[in-house]
Amino acid sequence: MTMIQTNLETVRARVTAACLAAGRTPGDVALLAVSKTFDAPAVEEAHAAGQTAFGENYIQEAVQKISQLRHLPLQWHCIGPIQSNKTRLVAENFDWVHTVDRLKIAQRLSEQRPPGLPPLQVCIQVNVDGGDTKSGVEPQEALALAQQVAALPHLRLRGIMSIPEPAPDFVASCAVFMKARALFDALNAAGLALDTLSMGMSADLEAAIHAGSTMVRVGSAIFGGRPRPA
Ligand SMILES: *Cc1c(COP(=O)(O)O)cnc(C)c1O
Repeated sequence: MTMIQTNLETVRARVTAACLAAGRTPGDVALLAVSKTFDAPAVEEAHAAGQTAFGENYIQEAVQKISQLRHLPLQWHCIGPIQSNKTRLVAENFDWVHTVDRLKIAQRLSEQRPPGLPPLQVCIQVNVDGGDTKSGVEPQEALALAQQVAALPHLRLRGIMSIPEPAPDFVASCAVFMKARALFDALNAAGLALDTLSMGMSADLEAAIHAGSTMVRVGSAIFGGRPRPA
């Protein structure tokens, strides 16, 4: 086994243990392998160990990797900020987008989704901890945006995504993730049929799973330290 494959097994074991500790079914939490800054052979290694869903932050880098790996049945998730001038590349190349935080971006993604591809699967990014360095819609604006996005023809709204600032410990981390969970429940109570709560990374996936995450986005714990900051 390669280092990536060993790491993948370790992360899967962490996800399973966190689910069991939280009284949840392990199969209910999906693992997104965040391959930003790592090259196509690293993705191939992870795929050889059974990983099919990959997350990327930088559109240009991702598009190149996606085209190099066309021969594999992979699912690509955009988890980085999206400028208006990049929506076409995203709409044409990705299966999912986690970082929709304004209507204009969603409208462009819908208009630019090529006919013949399935709807783009979308999460709305929410700023749950008031961190001012992060993008994301404020929680009180999430319902209105979610309703507008859900009405767009070539998108399918799946849920919400959050990237809280690192918290000092498990309890503090859970408290922040619970805000996202509460919003997720409120949106569903308002009639949106959401099934995806995208939260939790290498350092805090246990807390995210405890709070109800259905998709953890894990990079460094699988691929190792990144060669450049991200
Ligand atoms: C880089 C990144 C991750 C993965 O972070 P790690 O700490 O390496 O697991 C997850 N989500 C987003 C949005 C990221 O940018």
